[in-house]
Parts: sequence; structure tokens; C-alpha cells
Amino acid sequence: MTRNAVTDSWVRSLVRNLQPYVPGEQPRIKGLIKLNTNENPYPPSPRVLEAVRAAVDGRLRLYPDPTAERLREKLARLHGCEVDQILVGNGADEILRLAVHTFVEPVAAQRGPLSRRYLVPPAPALVQSFVPSYSLYPVLAAQHGAAFNPVPLQLEFALPEASQLRFLKEWQPQAALTFITTPNAPSGRGYATAQIEAICARSKGVVLLDETYADFAQENALRLALSQPNVIVCRSFSKAYCLCFLRVGYAVGPKPLIQAMHKLRDSYNVNGLGQVAAEATLDDLRYYRDNFRKIIETRDWTAQRLTELGFRVFPSQTNFLLVRPAGPPAGEWFHKLRDNRILVRWFDTHDLSEYLRISVGTPEEMETLVKTVKRLLR
Ligand SMILES: *Cc1c(COP(=O)(O)O)cnc(C)c1O
Repeated sequence: MTRNAVTDSWVRSLVRNLQPYVPGEQPRIKGLIKLNTNENPYPPSPRVLEAVRAAVDGRLRLYPDPTAERLREKLARLHGCEVDQILVGNGADEILRLAVHTFVEPVAAQRGPLSRRYLVPPAPALVQSFVPSYSLYPVLAAQHGAAFNPVPLQLEFALPEASQLRFLKEWQPQAALTFITTPNAPSGRGYATAQIEAICARSKGVVLLDETYADFAQENALRLALSQPNVIVCRSFSKAYCLCFLRVGYAVGPKPLIQAMHKLRDSYNVNGLGQVAAEATLDDLRYYRDNFRKIIETRDWTAQRLTELGFRVFPSQTNFLLVRPAGPPAGEWFHKLRDNRILVRWFDTHDLSEYLRISVGTPEEMETLVKTVKRLLR
């Protein structure tokens, strides 16, 4: 055996065959207008920055609060629930992973891709989500040795009506875990809580509502996590609350489900500075509500301008826009904009390759985007 074959054999076959998640680029190009990963264009509130600065001293040698108790207390007060109904994670991504590990049974050691071994995967080992949505979900399923069942969204990224579900051959009501991204990413489409509620009621397993973008939407479904036995809502401090760098997200849901997830997290899963920043954020929500208003205004302005330039712009309830550009294909636009120091996201997959996803930046950044698009169209 060659050296490589030997070292390869030490790695589990599941891991050898794994296609990892591909995050958006974080390039260091001076003057770049970065509209590719839905980061908030504004800084955290001055009070949050002050709180983080004040926490940077000799106490860095101490372990942080293992359960983020104070932060959970504040979140419980905010959402009108008990502290035991809250779990804080190292970003929403950790919450999503914990949900897979807590509710989904890995299929016993297998060779080769799961889909070939199990044409109809066993429901306890099944993760499903509507697609297109967050491309991390299938990766989390694969990492865990579970199967992933993609259920196509309807025309223009609509959720199916609950009454249609039983006619949808892809939908598996028995799936152990179903992810619903609401509002949807990457389309930006918002969904009515009543429609989500009806889908949750028809699911036999756990439904996790990924509400990363809910602060930019007209409604959210948090009340379902406080009333339905099988519903968990996941939120993030990253995009809406300007804390991507510090990695804090959380889950709200029924006590038995949340307590089960707690058992699987790392003892100190949320870093101390992240806890400090998230607590200070909750003490200054007014700053962020103003921020959401500004972003929504800039989003709607940009949508209008791009529509006037012949782009198809999907209605958005998030801090990004999915567009089908006029003129050359989306992939070409991606490169041309990049050459002009504007970075957007282009997903080179069969269902999304016609579109660009553009995060909402500051008004100045979006004016530059519109001007550049105008110039490139000529
Ligand atoms: C960005 C994003 C996340 C991850 O958020 P973090 O808190 O930064 O881990 C989860 N879900 C969706 C849909 C996202 O867009």
C-alpha cells in the first residue's frame, strides 16, 4: 500500500467520502464591497462594543459560564418562556448540528453513499428539508451518517400547502427531523405562520424552524415553539445582531427536546466574549430595531432599482435579494462584479445557477452596486 492509502484507511469511510460544506468567501481585498454572506453592514451597538472591551482583561484565563445562564435568562424574558426552554449554541450552526445528533438515528456503518443502500431510507435516520434552502442541512445529515430527503419548494419558492403534502411524493411525514428555513434562504421569501403550523401538525418527527432572518420579516413563528410539542425555533446573533465574529445562536422549544439537546453540547460551547456581547445586545434592542428598519429600506430601494434595470427580483423578507439578472448569465455577472470589487454570491447548482444572491449593504454600497450594474449593462 502507498503511504496515502495507509493514512486514508485510518479515516472512517463516511468521512473519506464526505463532501464538506462550502462557506462564502471571506477575501481580504481592499475596498471590496462585500455582499456575499449576509453580514450586517453596520457595526454592533456602541454599548455592545464597550461591554466586550471591558471584558477583555485577566479574566480571559477563566472558563465561561458553561450554560450561558444569564443570557438564557434574558432570552427567556424576551420570549416569555422558561429558562429551561432555551439552549445557546456556538452560532446557529451548532444548534442545527445538535438537532441532527439529538433527534436522528445514524444508520449503522455503511459503505458508499447512503442513497444507494437505502432507496427508501428508514424514517428514524432521515433528515428532510425543503429545497433550495440552507446547504448546510444535507452536510449535517451526511456527517452524522443519516439520509437527507430534499423536498422541492413550489413555484417561486412557495411552501406547499399542508393539504397538498400527501400528494407530494417527496414529502416524508415520518422523517425524524425536518428543517424549514423561514424566511427562506436563498430566495428571501417569507411564509405565513399559519401555513407553517399546519405543516408542523402533519409532521410525525421534530420540526426545526430556522429563523435566522426573522428580524427582517413581517412575522415569525416563535409562538409555535412555545405551543407545539414537536417544534423548535432557532435564531442567530450573527446577521441581524452584527455578531458573526463571536458565534452565538440559540434554540427555543419544548423543555424535553431542549434538555435532550443540552446533553450533547460541549461543556463550554459558547465562548465568554460571545456571551457578554449577546447579553449587551439584548439590553440595547432599540439600536437593532432601527438598524433593521434601515436595512429593509435599503433592501426595498435596491429591489426597485434593479427591477427598473430589467432584473427579476424576488420579494424578500430578509437582508438579501435573490435576483435573476438581465443580460449575460448569472455566472458571468458574478465574475464581472467581482472584477469591479463587488462580491455577491453565485451558487453553481442546477436549481440556483440562474440567480445571484445579493446581501443588503449600506445605502452607499447599494448605490455603487446599482451604478456598476448600469455601466456593465451598456
Ligand atoms: C447564516 C445562517 C445560519 C448560521 O448562523 P450562525 O449563527 O452564524 O451559525 C443558519 N441558518 C441560515 C439559514 C443561515 O443563513
